[in-house]
Amino acid sequence: MSKKIIIVGAGLGGLASGLLLSKQGYKVEFVEKNNQAGGRLNQIKKDGFTFDTGPSFFSMSFVFKDFMDKCGVELPFKFVELDPLYSVNFSGDDKTYHLYKDIKKLSEQFMDVEPDFEEKMEKYLKKSKRLFDDTFDIVIRNNFDNNFDYAKKLMGVNPVHVPQLFNTFFNHVKSHFSSKEARSIISLVAFFLGRTPFDTMAIYSLLSHTEFRHDGYYNVEGGMYNIINGLVSELEKAGAVFNYDSEVIKVEKEGEKITKVIDKNGKAYDGDVFLINSDAALFRGEVLHREKFSEAKLEKMQWTMGYLTFYIGIKGKLDKLNLHNYFLGSNFEEYGKNVMHKPDALEKPYYYVNNVSKYNPDCAPEGCESLFFVCPVPNLQYKKDWSDKDDIVNSIIKDFSQRIGVDITPNIITKTIYTPYDWEEQFNLFRGSGLGLSHQFTQIGALRPKNFDEEFKNLFYVGASTLPGAGLPMAVISAELATERILKALI
Ligand SMILES: Cc1cc2nc3c(=O)[nH]c(=O)nc-3n(C[C@H](O)[C@H](O)[C@H](O)COP(=O)(O)OP(=O)(O)OC[C@H]3O[C@@H](n4cnc5c(N)ncnc54)[C@H](O)[C@@H]3O)c2cc1C
Repeated sequence: MSKKIIIVGAGLGGLASGLLLSKQGYKVEFVEKNNQAGGRLNQIKKDGFTFDTGPSFFSMSFVFKDFMDKCGVELPFKFVELDPLYSVNFSGDDKTYHLYKDIKKLSEQFMDVEPDFEEKMEKYLKKSKRLFDDTFDIVIRNNFDNNFDYAKKLMGVNPVHVPQLFNTFFNHVKSHFSSKEARSIISLVAFFLGRTPFDTMAIYSLLSHTEFRHDGYYNVEGGMYNIINGLVSELEKAGAVFNYDSEVIKVEKEGEKITKVIDKNGKAYDGDVFLINSDAALFRGEVLHREKFSEAKLEKMQWTMGYLTFYIGIKGKLDKLNLHNYFLGSNFEEYGKNVMHKPDALEKPYYYVNNVSKYNPDCAPEGCESLFFVCPVPNLQYKKDWSDKDDIVNSIIKDFSQRIGVDITPNIITKTIYTPYDWEEQFNLFRGSGLGLSHQFTQIGALRPKNFDEEFKNLFYVGASTLPGAGLPMAVISAELATERILKALI
């Protein structure tokens, strides 16, 4: 009889692992806290509108294609390549920058502020490419058995990159560009790792290569949740079982093995192997009661920012609004240095707006738009009181209306707001940290919570807070790395 694998959590990491394992002939059963799959990559359907709740685009599409090849199935959703990648507007400036992948076309927009932008960008991207080429397969797409194995593998990385471990993303960008516009726009991608360019290592400037050169960014036809619909449908075809509204709160063990996980309703799920897609640090602390991951220890780890997100459906079309839009203030350095820790920085928030209905008309009733706003905010370690959420949301809507020249307030048909408390509560994200553990040197590679358990031989982990880190392509790579470990253990 084939062995049974219980997967706790049906986020992208869990689903991708499940598909790989079911294609290897194992029985797969999911135990998910919420009433639908997807985790942070989720969907709200309300009042005739459809919204993606978290991710709105992704890089490294080749990771998805490689993954589907490994599963032996056709990609069950359709990518749409973005060009421009996104648009950026600074407050007090009528100009909107469109981030084209064609560097010549991109450079034309910087003519007035940085006339030699093209040459500088080419030089900057050359370095980003070297970083990507020299680290991706060694540091990102790799398992590490222990610190020694990690150190040995790191020796394979060209030492020319070592200084970038001690430099910040922003300082690296600053050494290439002189205008505040170019510096802010090029270092914006560091925010995608859940921190700021001021506390993210310069090594991550490899992301600039992935966005402009290597592969760019992609959307999914019909909305991002179609990634989840596609994976769930493939899993169901392969016989996987889904249990929803079933939060795992305890485990039962026998010697060096887990025998069962128990959900909050008292239902037990037995299996041969257990894969945890819940946060790899929090689960060890809250469910396994490991001292190394106690609440006090978790508090001392470095977590990513929180997100204030809101989803509004409005009457009327906003034809001039692009698909992905960043609305920044005019004090990037001051804001970036404070936003993580100081709630007051929110007085003039920076925010992102996704207009999903622009190219996906089914996401809104006719003549209407589905808008999804994301505002990076301090997580609950630094801002506990969210009684001002409506004021912050209203100030963003007012600012947005001024900047696009249309007052959308009277046209709002539906509104849903998620503060970091909602993110924490819905998906078990420690202190509402949106992307899980941050990517500082002491929390990456073998130093991140491992994807195999320290005590139980049949317990493994997948997702943002274990290897390799946050983001959709990383969740898929995480699934491949965890599956590699599980398959080895099952042989
Ligand atoms: C606002 C926001 C915007 C983002 N934008 C982007 C983007 O544009 N592009 C991008 O690439 N990435 C983006 N990300 C990051 C991306 O969403 C995550 O890195 C990725 O979805 C994480 O997947 P995962 O499988 O690790 O975890 P999750 O999606 O968190 O899945 C974990 C699952 O486990 C379940 N669970 C937790 N605890 C238990 C338990 N005890 N018992 C049972 N089930 C449990 C949860 O309910 C959840 O379904 C964004 C994230 C946020 C919050």
